[in-house]
Amino acid sequence: MRLPDWNPSRPGRLRPCRTAGALAVASPRRHAVRRLVRLHELAHEDVRVPAENLIGEEGEGFIYQMKQFQHERFAIIPIAYVSASDIIKLTIEHLGERIVFGKPLLTKQALRHRLAGWQAETAALRALAYQITGMKNKGLDVTREVTMGKLLAGGLMRRVTDGCIQMFGGTGFMNESLITRYWRDARAISVAGGADEVMAEVLSRL
Ligand SMILES: Cc1cc2nc3c(=O)[nH]c(=O)nc-3n(C[C@H](O)[C@H](O)[C@H](O)COP(=O)(O)OP(=O)(O)OC[C@H]3O[C@@H](n4cnc5c(N)ncnc54)[C@H](O)[C@@H]3O)c2cc1C
Repeated sequence: MRLPDWNPSRPGRLRPCRTAGALAVASPRRHAVRRLVRLHELAHEDVRVPAENLIGEEGEGFIYQMKQFQHERFAIIPIAYVSASDIIKLTIEHLGERIVFGKPLLTKQALRHRLAGWQAETAALRALAYQITGMKNKGLDVTREVTMGKLLAGGLMRRVTDGCIQMFGGTGFMNESLITRYWRDARAISVAGGADEVMAEVLSRL
């Protein structure tokens, strides 16, 4: 079996699974975000799962995955508002220390107003997370609120990280700079767990 990036001169990159001959696991791929997470390409060909290894009911896998997504999307909301809050704090500290023409950059009203807007959005997302938690505790259906929260989380993180890396100027492009890592990692929120467009589509159908 060959994976799309299979390289015949480096056959060691393809490692067939010991327990199922038809499942191939490629070596980890280099990727842009969350570098501590290893991503592998998988290829399945005529995979047969022994009956005793079946999890749940046959044919229900997609439904199980959709239910799992609700938990994953809910978990992303606090990740987003806590990260956004940290990023804004980091940026305020930087602007306070960075002196340009004799004054800290934090004295620039245009920058402070942008940061204030993101702080307001971050607080709103946090409030939504608490609303969802309250609804969950009452056993209510939170599909709509979780979908909204996931959609808002992706947009907020993209705006905050893009805007804050701008305020770091050239320093923001240094790999050792924490803002650079936030900027890279934040981008995944609009895709992982369901893309923003898919969230909007789900919402429009509810
Ligand atoms: C960092 C990271 C970690 C991940 N971790 C996991 C994991 O642990 N487990 C796991 O199973 N998966 C994981 N994923 C996969 C993730 O769930 C999918 O990447 C995501 O659901 C998007 O699916 P896709 O990559 O197949 O994109 P595609 O379906 O190919 O979509 C590509 C793009 O097309 C657009 N699009 C897609 N559908 C629509 C639509 N209906 N209307 C309009 N536009 C649309 C969106 O912009 C989307 O980003 C991870 C992804 C990332 C980036």
